[in-house]
Amino acid sequence: MNITKQVEQLLKQGDVDIFLAYRELDGHLIPHGYTLDNLEDLENLKVSQHRYSLEKVATHLTEKKPNLKIGIVARDCNQRALNLLYTWNQLSPENITPLMVNCCPSQTRNHSDCTYLEPKKTGTFKQKKGIDFNENPREFMDNNDNGQRFSRWMYEFSKCIKCYGCRNICPVCFCTDCSLENPDLVEPGALPPEIPIFHLVRATHMAGRCIDCGLCEDACPAEIPLRFLYREMNRIVSDVFDYTPGAGLEKSPFTIIGNEVTLEPRPMDA
Ligand code: SF4
Ligand code: SF4
Ligand code: SF4
Repeated sequence: MNITKQVEQLLKQGDVDIFLAYRELDGHLIPHGYTLDNLEDLENLKVSQHRYSLEKVATHLTEKKPNLKIGIVARDCNQRALNLLYTWNQLSPENITPLMVNCCPSQTRNHSDCTYLEPKKTGTFKQKKGIDFNENPREFMDNNDNGQRFSRWMYEFSKCIKCYGCRNICPVCFCTDCSLENPDLVEPGALPPEIPIFHLVRATHMAGRCIDCGLCEDACPAEIPLRFLYREMNRIVSDVFDYTPGAGLEKSPFTIIGNEVTLEPRPMDA
């Protein structure tokens, strides 16, 4: 059965109240919620070509309606995000019905192992002053001493325009009060935001949480290699705690170490 028929069946049987996928509008694909009230839209249902953090939409919907039954078209990265959100009590698996679709066909790409992300090219100036999108992390460490690495990252961070695109697209950024808008940490109105604090705050928050979807880096208008940064954070988490965010339903080590949780997730309503 094709996916359109499956979604129609899920809606008609009452298995889901809304199904999150994409629809084509004026030649563009946009996230869309299909319901019994707009069944005719199903003829425009799309699942391919683009990715968006549909699970983030699911989180927002659940915040408004905790018992809403949500269907969602999911690739591997979406499923990793869902797993992570379950373990942080942002979504309940009982209320989520993922319909898995084929993930990336195998293709060779420089930057990324995900063919749905834009391939990144690095200009010569960036290669010299900053960080090549396609750099191998181990070679980056071997070929640059501490000072060089610091200066390259500072060059990258100095381009930030504090648009919050990285945070806004991120499926696992769900805090009620985001530290990046805390005036004690990040001065309001200052551009670029204080570096490297702004980026290190987010990077530390992504340790044990980032599911490596790459959407933040794709969204960043300043072409900062954010995925590179967060992958390194999670490499350390994996080495120290043997934990890979989103790989399963195991809780993040940062939710159980000590008594203090500094990244307070939004509580689920009853
Ligand atoms: S890759 Fe970026 S957008 Fe995706 S989970 Fe990690 S920090 Fe969030
Ligand atoms: S994880 Fe950090 S950056 Fe993301 S929403 Fe929470 S406080 Fe903001
Ligand atoms: S998306 Fe890029 S430019 Fe925008 S706040 Fe994040 S790092 Fe800065």
